[in-house]
Amino acid sequence: METLKLKTKLLYLLISVALGLLIVGFVGYFNLLTMKRNVDTLYFGSMIPLTELSAINTAYHHELESNIYRWREKVISDEEFARNITLGLANIDQMWASYLSHHKRPEEVPYVNYTDERIDIMKRYFEEIRSLSTHQTQASAVSLITLTDNITSIHNTIAQLISYEISVAKYERAVTLNHHKDSLMQLAVMLGFILLGVMTFAWRIFRQIEQQQQQLLNSSKALQHLNVKLEQASYTDTLTGIYNRRYFNLVYEREFKRASRSEKPITFIMVDIDFFKPYNDTYGHLQGDVALQSVARVLRTSLSRPGDFAFRLGGEEFGIILTDTDAQSARQMAERLRFNVESLNIEHKGNKNTGIVTISLGAICVTPTMSMGNESLLHTADANLYAAKERGRNQVVFTITL
Ligand code: GH3
Ligand code: MG
Ligand code: MG
Repeated sequence: METLKLKTKLLYLLISVALGLLIVGFVGYFNLLTMKRNVDTLYFGSMIPLTELSAINTAYHHELESNIYRWREKVISDEEFARNITLGLANIDQMWASYLSHHKRPEEVPYVNYTDERIDIMKRYFEEIRSLSTHQTQASAVSLITLTDNITSIHNTIAQLISYEISVAKYERAVTLNHHKDSLMQLAVMLGFILLGVMTFAWRIFRQIEQQQQQLLNSSKALQHLNVKLEQASYTDTLTGIYNRRYFNLVYEREFKRASRSEKPITFIMVDIDFFKPYNDTYGHLQGDVALQSVARVLRTSLSRPGDFAFRLGGEEFGIILTDTDAQSARQMAERLRFNVESLNIEHKGNKNTGIVTISLGAICVTPTMSMGNESLLHTADANLYAAKERGRNQVVFTITL
């Protein structure tokens, strides 16, 4: 469930990043288109018209006005003069037509029309002068004052158009720069939002991963704890709380092998409560359980070394394993166990010998060899226990094989 949530969040993160990048891409693309349009407007709407207008002015001065002066001074022939005028006018017509073909703003149109009329008047004026040359008229008949006036007038008219185009160009440039600035701002804001979104998502995802890791850690700890408990439970006798037969089998085999390898003595003591059936019959099964618990507790607490173990083997029978203990100490320990149980002084009317609960112990202490089977130890202990019972109970029968 949590993994699913995490996956969904990761998917959201990827989708939002992709979506964000797509939006930035689109906005960037449209901004670029607008910038291109702005540059085009600046170039084709103002720069080219400007050069055309300047060229028209130049043409009036250099191709038409100066042509008349050269004709007057007889530098050029009549024919050449006429041809130059025709060419000059055609050139101006062409440039003016090109200028008109560009987009014009509504506020610009009246002045353009006015200039168009002025250019037309100038055309007629120069055509008139050209016709003089074909009628063999003296060039000196051309009034220089009128010429200068006309050239100045058209120059001023076109200059005004030029200054208008310059102001438009400036305006266009300002628009372009503004748009550029706006685009940058837009980009920065959008990237900021995307970054914020991504960081928020990433933070949430990392927090969830962290929480899941912590949960995992907690559950694994709980599991470990449970495992230890389970292991303990599987090795513990439920009634008495000391080790059970299952654990005895493990420990007995392990310690027997260890003693064989290290050639150290191992002691096994079999313990059986005397006349326990009559005890149950007299005091009841529940009281019998209590007595079993008391005997088990005494057996366990009498052993203090880490290599000593007490087990309930079944019914009212117990097993004791002593490792690294010499025969003398083991014998003393067996006697102490018997004494400690006796010292509990639990009333037992059915025990004709003592009137209290006692135990019989069959023990053996050996330094095992590799060839010795571990069963023999159990048999000997069992036989010794039987002998202890036979000899009157509440006693230890101990065999030492070193
Ligand atoms: P002996 O001195 O020869 O050992 O005589 P005994 O009566 O102790 O021997 P026996 O084997 O005849 O009887 C063992 C009795 O232990 C029989 C059974 O009722 C009792 N017993 C076995 N397990 C339990 C137990 O878990 N709780 C109780 N209360 N009694 C048990
Ligand atoms: Mg028994
Ligand atoms: Mg018994």
